[in-house]
Amino acid sequence: MFDTLSDRLTSALQSLRGKGKLTDADIDATAREIRIALLEADVALPVVREFIAQIKQRAKGAEVSGALNPAQQVIKIVNEELIGILGGETRRLTLAKNPPTVIMLAGLQGSGKTTLAGKLAMWLKKQGHAPLLVACDLQRPNAVTQLQVVGERAGVPTFAPEPGNGVGDPVDVARRGIDEAKHAQHDIVIVDTAGRLGVDEELMRQAADIRDAVRPDETLFVVDAMIGQDAVATAEAFRDGVGFSGVVLTKLDGDARGGAALSVRQVTGRPILFASNGEKLEDFDTFHPDRMASRILGMGDLLTLIEQAEQAFDAEQAEKAAAKLGTGQLTLEDFLQQMLAIRKMGPIGNLLGMLPGAGQMKDQLAQVDDTQLDRLQAIIRGMTPAERDDPKIINGSRRQRIALGSGVTVREVNDLVNRFFEARKMMQQMAGRFGFGGGGGSKS
Ligand code: GDP
Repeated sequence: MFDTLSDRLTSALQSLRGKGKLTDADIDATAREIRIALLEADVALPVVREFIAQIKQRAKGAEVSGALNPAQQVIKIVNEELIGILGGETRRLTLAKNPPTVIMLAGLQGSGKTTLAGKLAMWLKKQGHAPLLVACDLQRPNAVTQLQVVGERAGVPTFAPEPGNGVGDPVDVARRGIDEAKHAQHDIVIVDTAGRLGVDEELMRQAADIRDAVRPDETLFVVDAMIGQDAVATAEAFRDGVGFSGVVLTKLDGDARGGAALSVRQVTGRPILFASNGEKLEDFDTFHPDRMASRILGMGDLLTLIEQAEQAFDAEQAEKAAAKLGTGQLTLEDFLQQMLAIRKMGPIGNLLGMLPGAGQMKDQLAQVDDTQLDRLQAIIRGMTPAERDDPKIINGSRRQRIALGSGVTVREVNDLVNRFFEARKMMQQMAGRFGFGGGGGSKS
């Protein structure tokens, strides 16, 4: 997602590098390239026009600043304008003062609504809420079962019409779902409604009837980011037919050009609340306009990386390891635990992809090979606890045993042990120099 756009924008801005002063002609030329990049990404024309007009106006009027060179100044303006069209501030879910909070989902069939219901439910549950899913899509065969399946995977109950009673009335199911939530003390209700293949009046009316019956605190319009320009027309139809308070973008992992993501907020005037980027229930998060803009501009997504790290690392353990760094007491067991924590965050190539400038190292990233880490892990696992604790005792015969047990050569074991000692020494020295960890490492 956004790869082509990101490449084009970066190269448009790169041509400004090294210029001491920008002429109007420089700015016009860059604006023209940005315009082409946005149109190729399938961004809606009115959005492109306004964006370009803003960039030109601000870039031409920009005061020369001591801190930024002209190219950086334009990048800053483009970044701020991108954040603007993506919605500015991060918009959080509004919870009702008197629970249950009712969240209604609307969108075309196949947009990823049912999957999203499961993702949202799991996400809310992780934050300590007790959500209930309500199955009001009685149109599509199996929609109810599908919701029950994602509900089970999310560990969240689903309220559905009893089977065998014919198709049933979705408005009635919605109402009873809310009653059930109150009765069973659920603080959030997620109402899945029938999708439609195209914009269709009858189903639109049904969604409006459900809306009137459950009076949602949030109505989320779910849209597949891969449908490009069509997303805009669909969003407008839903806004006029049902109304919605926020947007969820799905399939951001797909090979889409990004136009939908960049247009929908500006065209509908409604904020994007969440982004969905994969088929697994975990592939879902709050949408942050600033992080997305920074990703589009190839400036990386460090905040997301940091948050993922916080989730993956056990704070206590990390602190212990950090304290040991300076004392020269770091063991191979600590090293293994840190490595396992990093790998919980996903394939190493993906992690590196979030770093600034990663766009330019795509080819190298594709070659990052996690199997080497598998081998390191296997070697450490082949050691006894005493060996992990005090690697100095790993003599020749131990090395041979470890190599045999973990299916590697003695040389690989030697490499690992030697590199570990080097790293430990280096950390100890650094700790000494920066005065933390109580190591006194500079002596060694
Ligand atoms: P609904 O008809 O709107 O309820 O859509 P579904 O939830 O059934 O999703 C339609 C298809 O899209 C399913 O095959 C999902 O697995 C898939 N899907 C949903 N969200 C995502 C996503 O974020 N990324 C990808 N790659 N696939 C998704």
